[in-house]
Amino acid sequence: MRIGANWGSLDQELLTRLMDENARSSSPRDAREVTREAMVQSALLSAERAEEIGLARDRIILSAKVSAVQDLIAVYVDLARRSDYALHLGLTEAGMGSKGIVASAAALSILLQRGIGDTIRISLTPEPGGDRTLEVKVAQELLQTMGFRVFVPLVAACPGCGRTTSTTFQELARDIQGFIHASMPQWKRSYPGVETLNVAVMGCIVNGPGESKHADIGISLPGTGEQPAAPVFIDGKKVATLRRFGQAGAGRTAAE
Ligand code: SF4
Repeated sequence: MRIGANWGSLDQELLTRLMDENARSSSPRDAREVTREAMVQSALLSAERAEEIGLARDRIILSAKVSAVQDLIAVYVDLARRSDYALHLGLTEAGMGSKGIVASAAALSILLQRGIGDTIRISLTPEPGGDRTLEVKVAQELLQTMGFRVFVPLVAACPGCGRTTSTTFQELARDIQGFIHASMPQWKRSYPGVETLNVAVMGCIVNGPGESKHADIGISLPGTGEQPAAPVFIDGKKVATLRRFGQAGAGRTAAE
């Protein structure tokens, strides 16, 4: 059972008592630090009470609902230091879009890297009519990017730069990603371990082949002014070169 404290509805009696004690202290702490301490104490007290009324310790997961990155990190570092309860991590009210993703990833990755946290949730405010499953996708990508779990093959794509004016590498990376996600239910049944596959899509011949060789499957597309050839690598070895013939938009692709 998830038990904890919420920064926005913190036990006011506890907070007032800690603030008063702090005010009387010879070396008073910042009010924010006292609030963090109140969060930690509130969560631990709630868990202790739950145990007193019969909830098994190993059935308790502590959760501290905090919306600021540094507060979240400080509270959970303290909870981990002062107890052995399982901990649920999540930055509450993280926000929309990239703001919410970056803030959540910043907070959670620091804690996870320190071995703190047993379950996670990414809380994102969806766009009106937006997709709620983005939260799950971001959580999975965070764990996979950090090397803790694998869920789905990752597609690495170069960011693009002055060496390419084409959007083909972006379109190809997007299409491959979509194809992988659509194929995963069947691939998981047919190819155990497929989720560890790494795919790379690179945009020019200068850096593309080197990067592509590091992936399980990689393709290096031609950059601006380069020969219209795209070497394909599997396990670091070139297995084919795709070439395009004919006019743009009406061409065909051949492999050699
Ligand atoms: S692979 Fe080529 S096009 Fe892509 S970012 Fe690197 S140098 Fe630029």
